[in-house]
Amino acid sequence: MSLALRLCQRGLKPVIIEHSPTLRDGGYMLGLSDPGYDAAERMGVAEALGAAQYMPRRIAHIGADGRTKFALQGRSLDILAGERQLNLMRGDIERILYERLRDDAEFHFGASVATLDQAADGVRVRLDDATVIEADLAVGADGLHSNLRALAFGPEERFIRFLGARVAAFILDRSAVPAIGEDETASLTEVGRAIGLAAIRGGRLVAFFIYRTGRERRFETVEAELKHAFAGAGWHVPTLLDHVRVADSVYFDEVAQAVVPRWSYGRAVLLGDAAAAVSLIAGKGATLAMAGGLVLADALADQPADMPAALARFEAKLRPMTEPAQAMARRNVGLFAPSNRLQLVARDFGLRLAGLPLLARLAKRFLNREGERL
Ligand SMILES: Cc1cc2nc3c(=O)[nH]c(=O)nc-3n(C[C@H](O)[C@H](O)[C@H](O)COP(=O)(O)OP(=O)(O)OC[C@H]3O[C@@H](n4cnc5c(N)ncnc54)[C@H](O)[C@@H]3O)c2cc1C
Repeated sequence: MSLALRLCQRGLKPVIIEHSPTLRDGGYMLGLSDPGYDAAERMGVAEALGAAQYMPRRIAHIGADGRTKFALQGRSLDILAGERQLNLMRGDIERILYERLRDDAEFHFGASVATLDQAADGVRVRLDDATVIEADLAVGADGLHSNLRALAFGPEERFIRFLGARVAAFILDRSAVPAIGEDETASLTEVGRAIGLAAIRGGRLVAFFIYRTGRERRFETVEAELKHAFAGAGWHVPTLLDHVRVADSVYFDEVAQAVVPRWSYGRAVLLGDAAAAVSLIAGKGATLAMAGGLVLADALADQPADMPAALARFEAKLRPMTEPAQAMARRNVGLFAPSNRLQLVARDFGLRLAGLPLLARLAKRFLNREGERL
């Protein structure tokens, strides 16, 4: 949607093919930071995103006994959050971009690309509802498990790097866990698994689960999978697990990265997670997807007569941002789901230090949370 919005702003005409039949409300909470924030500003949506953001005043870390071990708040939280970072629900980003776009772009909801034929000067795409679309360029902006990547670049197994964990997120009624304060997030981290909870608008909560595992999926349902992975966990976890079945917008996937040696092939190009998913551990995927959308649109608009040069320019700008983020995520899986007791203790110690304003800046740099700008 970021790419499409910028293309419209630059006088080009995007056609958006979205698999979901409707906009996807909800999802999970994410941080949109420096280059993503820059892109939002240049597209004129930073203010609307800012109005939709969440500003937790306290981040509580809970122990296995259900009691608060320590909390980040005040000045150190402001430093860690940073000035150019917005905490948003993924669904709010999608909705805000869509509102800007809907009168100018052509949308096909509930559709996916069935076949893609490339010619020297364009592509012919047939959707699974038999609609045929001809265009100058096909962009795979369809996430980690990109269908367009499979059609134009090869099977998913060639490009996915599994990081040894799975993630789930879902939305439930706030009344299920009334103890979570209005502007508070809270998390419980144990060896091999973690759960986070945050209050969101509309009297709801968003719950987040991550756990270490092999690649095989053992159970038929997300509920069974989570009940197995979080067996014996205390705090509010049993209540949350009882709500998975009736929850809104359950998200469940592997924690993985996409590693694609070249992002374009003829008249097909990959963007966002399809090209270079960094994983939630990096906390930068949406940032890079939005920044990438702007850079790609500008490159195409600036060099309309030289598509290969425009695609090369896009990749040359974005790849140096994605590769360090991927390396950082591979190192830091243990910050989310520690692999042993020592790692858990070291993580907690590091977070306690980050709670001291003087050390918060150092912690932010360590987490690679600032630096590049567009
Ligand atoms: C729990 C969690 C926390 C995260 N936290 C952060 C964070 O703090 N900061 C951050 O920057 N990033 C974060 N991320 C990563 C971020 O969400 C992704 O990197 C980002 O959403 C990628 O955007 P995208 O548009 O490339 O892909 P997606 O957001 O995955 O969107 C892909 C779109 O393509 C559609 N689609 C899929 N298949 C098809 C098909 N066959 N045909 C048509 N359409 C299709 C989907 O419905 C979807 O609308 C987090 C991710 C998770 C799971």
